[in-house]
Amino acid sequence: MGGGYAALAACWHLLQKNPAPSITLYIEKQTDIASTISTGLLHPYPGKFARRSIKADAAIQATLELLQIAEGYLQQKVYQKTGVLKIAIAEEQKPFFAKAATHGDAIWNDPELLIPHGITVFSERYIQGLTLACQSKGVKIERKRVTALADLPGKILVAAGAESICFDECKELPLNLTKGRVLVCRGHPVERPIIAGRHISPSFDPEICYIGSTYEREGEEVDPFSLKGEMESYISFVKELSIIGIKEGFRCSNKGSYLPLVKQLNERIVVFAGLGSRGLLYHALFAKELSDLF
Ligand SMILES: Cc1cc2nc3c(=O)[nH]c(=O)nc-3n(C[C@H](O)[C@H](O)[C@H](O)COP(=O)(O)OP(=O)(O)OC[C@H]3O[C@@H](n4cnc5c(N)ncnc54)[C@H](O)[C@@H]3O)c2cc1C
Repeated sequence: MGGGYAALAACWHLLQKNPAPSITLYIEKQTDIASTISTGLLHPYPGKFARRSIKADAAIQATLELLQIAEGYLQQKVYQKTGVLKIAIAEEQKPFFAKAATHGDAIWNDPELLIPHGITVFSERYIQGLTLACQSKGVKIERKRVTALADLPGKILVAAGAESICFDECKELPLNLTKGRVLVCRGHPVERPIIAGRHISPSFDPEICYIGSTYEREGEEVDPFSLKGEMESYISFVKELSIIGIKEGFRCSNKGSYLPLVKQLNERIVVFAGLGSRGLLYHALFAKELSDLF
């Protein structure tokens, strides 16, 4: 169940194990979900202190394989090797950024950390391409909201993002929700994502870029327009941008870990959720691993 990074990647890997599958994907929607709102940053050094993520190389390789598959089916670019630039906006970040550069795949030039192999994913296109790939291999898609897991036949993979916890069987899972809002802007080309506290990232349309993103916990509200002001203090061209839209969605995180949650609840139900802010980094690798549970 699901039509985002998690469900589609899992579906693709299940197909690789069973060439004559009987898989139905139940998808409520594929617009305005975390996986299409995502600003598309993929690199090994997320987070304020740019600590290298666990299994980063294998995870990026697994994602790249799926990006190429999606691109092949969609026949449009779904990602670009743009590189990613991180700017230290506080002194305390600098020793960590300098340490990141010792791994050999990032360059530290105070206050900038350049990650030359960083990737920008065009999330909506990626979702479209991967959906086409699964369909072309015989997966049936039912576009409807599932209200109870007991109504579904066979083995079930719940990969419903923030809504995974709506099911009775999943209520106790250690998952957190955080609202994220993104400004859609026009007015200046953006060559590569730049992270300076908040971040700006290009889209497939050179006229359009995104400024992201808020992290709003339950009961908390952040003015999304403040994102632009914050970025203006570090990047001068941001002043030239006009805001033409706002997108919002919910991240679902695994409490106590930045790795996703993969849990077999009983003989029939497996949950794959909690990808947090590292959905692009980990969805493909974990999807590959969890296909052994089926
Ligand atoms: C503003 C923002 C920016 C982000 N930027 C980045 C980024 O730059 N890089 C990065 O790696 N990650 C980023 N993320 C995180 C990333 O988007 C998520 O980790 C990822 O999209 C989660 O994927 P998912 O498939 O688990 O969930 P989702 O994308 O939320 O998909 C859930 C799917 O399940 C379906 N569903 C839910 N309930 C039901 C039901 N009852 N019946 C049927 N279908 C159902 C939904 O319709 C949807 O298709 C960002 C997130 C946000 C919110």
